[in-house]
Amino acid sequence: MNEFLCGLTGDIVTPFNQLYNEERQGYNRAVQKFPLIIVYCYSRQDVSNAVIWARKNCVQIRIRSGGHNYEGYSNGNFTLVIDVSRMNSMYIDEFSNCLHVESGVTNGQVYNFVSSKGYPFPGGTCPTVGVSGYALGGGWGLSCRNFGLGCDSLKEIELVNYEGKIITANCEINQDLFWACRGAGGGNFGVILSMIFELPPKIDKVTVINIEYLNVDSEEQAKFMYTWQRWLKTADKRITLISRVYNSAGDNLSMLVRGIYYGIPEEALEIVDDFLRLNGAKCDMEYVTFLEAVTIIGSSYPQYEKFQSASRFVLRDLTWDSLTKLAGLIVKRPPGSVFTGISMYAMGGRVSEFETDAAAFFYRDAQYIIWLETTWEEQQYAEVNRDWIKNQFPHIECMTDGSYVNFPYKCLDCYKEEYYGKHTDILKKIKDKYDPLDVFSFPQGIGISGI
Ligand SMILES: Cc1cc2nc3c(=O)[nH]c(=O)nc-3n(C[C@H](O)[C@H](O)[C@H](O)COP(=O)(O)OP(=O)(O)OC[C@H]3O[C@@H](n4cnc5c(N)ncnc54)[C@H](O)[C@@H]3O)c2cc1C
Repeated sequence: MNEFLCGLTGDIVTPFNQLYNEERQGYNRAVQKFPLIIVYCYSRQDVSNAVIWARKNCVQIRIRSGGHNYEGYSNGNFTLVIDVSRMNSMYIDEFSNCLHVESGVTNGQVYNFVSSKGYPFPGGTCPTVGVSGYALGGGWGLSCRNFGLGCDSLKEIELVNYEGKIITANCEINQDLFWACRGAGGGNFGVILSMIFELPPKIDKVTVINIEYLNVDSEEQAKFMYTWQRWLKTADKRITLISRVYNSAGDNLSMLVRGIYYGIPEEALEIVDDFLRLNGAKCDMEYVTFLEAVTIIGSSYPQYEKFQSASRFVLRDLTWDSLTKLAGLIVKRPPGSVFTGISMYAMGGRVSEFETDAAAFFYRDAQYIIWLETTWEEQQYAEVNRDWIKNQFPHIECMTDGSYVNFPYKCLDCYKEEYYGKHTDILKKIKDKYDPLDVFSFPQGIGISGI
């Protein structure tokens, strides 16, 4: 072995390796980073060795699980990427109804595993997203109004800290670290090795809802958003929906509603009646197992794509005028874009039943999350699409509050305050305490005092 790599254990990939070019890339192919080394860890010792090696050799660390960070923050030029995706064992303790996972598991792997024992899981929509990255940043999913965010089910974490030591955090041990990792844990405090989640009650079947409206106009999109906002205020907490207005090369201006209802289709039909009354609604409901439901929803994702996006929390009602402006933002796609869209992720229900200070995730009172996106295929259009988001973003920013750290945007001015709101100062103190040398840093990290 190359002497420089001495001390690193696990599978090592460097630029001299044939696989390097594929292995260095994440889900968002618009972001291209060139790490010095990728180390695939199989054990706690591999992770610990990697942290110690990086410090000894003065190489910056990035931590990667599913590799889906929108801005590529689990990767970086000339860094050591500690990749935990091969640490993916799981078991369920049926006595305590708890799921024990290693930190490399994906949503899809967890869904397959827990549903084989009859449980649902408050995971995310995309099967290849890592559960670590998902839950550490909060974790919005199509079960969240019923069961809370992913981080709300977390009971314990284990991590390798800046000294390479393993520490545990839960409600009794290292409570402050545990608090911080439920909403602000991605990449900031150490490498999470394992997590324990409390599982929701077993479930037989759920209803998957899909409503589409093709070839609409901008005013209909504004009406749709108006309906969405009004509907959400009194919606049954057993239903969680994502709704989207978009402009795609295939469908032109269109919109959709998609989601899961923990109940039967007849009830779901009544609950979504407001959406069915809108012009052109085509509705499809399926009463299926939880695994079938998340598989249907997950099947809409490509293996990877090129995109730029930005997110905001909606805490106040948007006026008709604001909604018209929002719809107007996507009427014209930038050059090379094959898709522009505004997605709305329902919050409320169980998410807002937790106190704001229950965990680092700050925006408990948001009605929904807005996510603005443009997708392109040819790399030559990257800059013009990034500029497009930059120009549209202020229009959304002025009517909303804060951004969701799991949907990061590199151009945010005060990103810490935007992601963590009034929890920012306490998070900085927790960072100083658990990572005093800022060993775990990345472009939008919490950072230590004085830097
Ligand atoms: C197609 C798609 C669909 C999505 N759908 C949803 C959704 O429905 N709901 C939602 O909430 N989010 C969603 N997301 C966002 C996703 O949850 C976040 O991007 C998440 O952080 C990705 O986790 P990852 O492990 O896949 O990514 P990575 O890029 O590997 O990691 C993301 C962040 O977490 C850190 N991290 C990863 N593993 C560890 C670890 N073991 N220890 C410490 N830090 C770690 C990384 O350093 C990085 O900062 C989606 C993303 C994509 C691309």
